[in-house]
Formats: sequence, C-alpha cells, structure tokens
Amino acid sequence: MEQMDLFIGGALTGAKEGEATDVVEAATGEVMGRVMLGGAADIDAAVTAAEAASASWAARDPRERADVLVRFADHLTARAVETATLVSRQNGMPITLSTGANGYFPGLVLRYYAGLVRDAGEPDVRPGMRGTRTRVERTPIGVVGAITPWNYPQTLAAMKYAPALAAGCAVVLKPPPETALDAYVLAEAAEAAGLPPGVLNIVPGGRDAGARLVAHPGVAKVAFTGSTAAGRAIGAVCGELLKPVTLELGGKSAAILLDDVDLASYLGMLPRVSLPNAGQTCHSSTRILAPRARYDEVVDAVTDTVRGLVVGDPLDRATQIGPMVSAAHRGRVLDHIDVGRAEGARLTTGGGVPADREAGWFVEPTVFADVDNSWRIAQEEIFGPVLCVIPYDDEEDAVRIANDSDYGLAGTVWTSDEERGVAVARRVHTGSIGVNHFGLDPAAPFGGWKASGLGTELGPEGLEAYRRPKSIYLPAGSRERTRKDPV
Ligand code: NAD
Repeated sequence: MEQMDLFIGGALTGAKEGEATDVVEAATGEVMGRVMLGGAADIDAAVTAAEAASASWAARDPRERADVLVRFADHLTARAVETATLVSRQNGMPITLSTGANGYFPGLVLRYYAGLVRDAGEPDVRPGMRGTRTRVERTPIGVVGAITPWNYPQTLAAMKYAPALAAGCAVVLKPPPETALDAYVLAEAAEAAGLPPGVLNIVPGGRDAGARLVAHPGVAKVAFTGSTAAGRAIGAVCGELLKPVTLELGGKSAAILLDDVDLASYLGMLPRVSLPNAGQTCHSSTRILAPRARYDEVVDAVTDTVRGLVVGDPLDRATQIGPMVSAAHRGRVLDHIDVGRAEGARLTTGGGVPADREAGWFVEPTVFADVDNSWRIAQEEIFGPVLCVIPYDDEEDAVRIANDSDYGLAGTVWTSDEERGVAVARRVHTGSIGVNHFGLDPAAPFGGWKASGLGTELGPEGLEAYRRPKSIYLPAGSRERTRKDPV
C-alpha cells in the first residue's frame, strides 16, 4: 500500500520537498506500505489552501455546514471496519477497540457537532447592565493546525476537525509517520461528502513539519495531542505568538478500588480501563490503588487477570493485548520495566517479551506490586502494558496518592456505592474520571489538568475552542426604533 501524495486544496498533490518512509506493521515488524511525509514547503502550501477556502466556509449557513458533516460521517462510518483494520495493522491496536474508536467514534463526533451548530437557536442578544444591549456572536477562529499522535489516529483527529469544521474553520491536519496511511480515508470521505476544496488538508509528517505548522502565521489556532514534552514546546511557541492552543497530553491515572469494591466488576473492565491498546492510551488507569485490608486479594486477582489476557494478532477479535507501535517504543517500555525492578517493585507477572512472539513489538502484560507512589514507575507515563498496585490506608490516603502526580488527565473509582464513588471522584484532580466505568462521550468535555494539558475537546466546550466571542454593543431600544423606521 503506497500513498505518495499529500491532500492539499481538495486534490492529491505531489510533495514539494517531502521524503518517503516505510510504514511498518506493528504485529510483524514487516513493511506494509510506504508514505510521503511533507516538508515545510508542503505545510506552507496546505496553509495557503486552507486560508483560501476559509472565508467562504465560514460564511456558509451553519445548517449547510452541518449537512456536509453528516455526509462526511456517513462516508466514514460506511468504511469503519476498513479504517479500523488499517489503523490496527499500523499501530497494533486490538481490532475490537479500533473498530469502535477509530472506525465509528469519528462519525459520532461529526454528527454531534453537526447537531450543535444546526440548532444554534436565536441570536444571543443580552440585556445590558446599563440599559443598552449586547449582541454576542461567535466567530470562527480561522485556520486550524491539528497535530495528532499514532495511538488513536482517527479518534483524535476527529476530536479536532469535527468541531473546527462545524465552527466554520478550515483545517490542516498533520498525522504522524507511524499512522499516516489511514489519514487518506479522511481525504476520500471529505471529497465524497462535498467538503469544499481546501477546507480539510492533510500533510503527514514528522516533528519539523509539526513545528512549521505551529509557527505558521496563517494558522490561527493549534490543536495538539501528544506527549507532554512536545506539548510544552508547542505551548511555548504559541505563548510567544499569543496563538490559542489546545494541548491534550500524557497521563498516569489511578484506578481507586474502594474497600467495598466488587472486584470482579473491575477485573472484567481491566483490559479496557487499565490496559486499553496495551496501555498505549493516555487515560489508562495504570496505578491501581488498593485498600491495605484487601491488598493481597487485589494483587492476586489483578495478577491472575493480567496473566490470562490474550496477547496476539491485533486483527484477531479475541486479542486483548496487541504489540507496541514500534521497536523504539517497545525499547522504552522494557527500559521502564527494568527501572521498576531496580526500584524494588515486586514483579508478579510479565516483565519481558512473550516467548512465542519473536516477530512484532510485543511486551508481556506486566504487574508490579508493593510499589511506592514516589517511584519512577508510578510517576512516569510508561505507555505500555505495565500496571502498578499501590496500597493505601483509608479513603483520604487514596485520594492523596491519586493526586500525587504531575499529571491530571483521568482516572476511575470502583465501589458498590455509586454516590460514594462520585464523592471520591470529585476530589481527584483530573479533567475526567469514571465511576465503575470509563468512556469518552462526544457530548462531554475531555481535557487534562496540570501536566496533562490545557483546554478541552468534545462537548460544547470543544466547539468554543474554535470560535471567538465578539460583542456588538447596541444602544437601548434601537430594535424598536428600527422596526418603526427601517431606514
Ligand atoms: P509525540 O508528542 O512524540 O508526537 C505527537 C505528534 O506531535 C506527532 O504528530 C509528532 O510528529 C508531533 N510533534 C512532536 N514534536 C513536535 C513539535 N515540537 N512540534 C510540533 N509537532 C510535534 O507523542 P507520541 O509519542 O506520538 O504520542 C504519545 C503521547 O500522546 C503520550 O504521551 C500520550 O499520553 C499522549 N496522548 C494524549 C492524549 C490526550 O488526549 N490527552 C491522547 C492520546 C495520546
């Protein structure tokens, strides 16, 4: 499979200064395709195309934009299984997860934002505090530079382009080299849906192309998902340029098992909540906080569950744990496991490469017990199938440990008493948290606190990130005068 063009101005276009690279299948380590990565001149061309398309897209009736987005959703949804498979081959995500997240979720997000702008309601005219009135309008922010990582490429792209397009912005999307192939499904669906040329442009590329997009004067807003280190660098540039930016960054979330937990219900959800995509998920609850009185029971049960997970071919529907995205990333995960051993954590299962998986970038699902929350394995994002089980004394102590982290992305609370769970959830310093469940909802904001990011995606808040409020001050009673005398 080859994709040697970029999608600029509504057409597949040869790169001006690109460089081709191999795409490697995560489960086999074999080359599965080749893709062109754009350079600075290609980013410039894409921004120019977006700028040219911007004004007329912004001026369209929101209901027309909504119609286009619904058609876009239809085309993506019709190809959901094909797209999910392509993603899984590139990044190793188990197909059952990929089908929902990369296949169907983008269509849901598009439909949600189409609905929001279609039902915009009456103009927002507010009675003023001094007898006058103010009409508050929401103006599309301008061209958006969207930068995405490889772990949920379609999901995370949709969380940016769907609200941006609905708001009336044109977008330049820069997918990462590891998962560049599936981005072209977006190009085809956008074209089939009648999205005007230049409203969505796609230039796969590496860090330099991303940096060019961030700093480009034609880009009015940056939407980034990726590592905290890259997020800080991008945030610094945007700060200097006073450019609005949304940053969705790393995490090290806690699963707080309260003393009344129904352990079986947590264990049933563990693969999806604590090790989704083999831990290559920003919101994974990888620190398991267990009450001291039930600590041994929890360690044994978590160990048994993790030992029993099905590791294998991501395209097999039975697979729960696929490979790491790349050899380099697997190396980083294995290094972290060595750190855990050296820090004195007790390895109860896993800890290496599965004996029957020589090809591909697999890591055994791994559990460390007797972990101190100050250790590196409890503080650093490993982004692999590695869990830490940490004891706590009482509810107060559990909340303290959960909050003792640079990150503040997500988490879960497990209890037989939902109200109690909500009360604990409220005290955890994260942008989202689940009680006996975790799952992103297109209608609810998702975003990180502390080193996990700035701003939010999804929900009505996600739309406002692509619009600027504008106050038009009106004198008292001018509406009545206008009615009587239209001149
Ligand atoms: P990464 O930061 O290395 O790369 C992410 C994207 O940014 C890629 O497209 C890359 O080419 C680009 N990039 C890197 N440095 C850049 C720079 N200085 N300027 C502009 N662009 C740059 O991250 P990764 O390893 O691909 O992804 C894994 C990370 O993403 C993890 O830390 C994970 O927690 C995070 N993540 C966060 C969320 C969230 O919603 N909070 C979701 C998924 C992943």
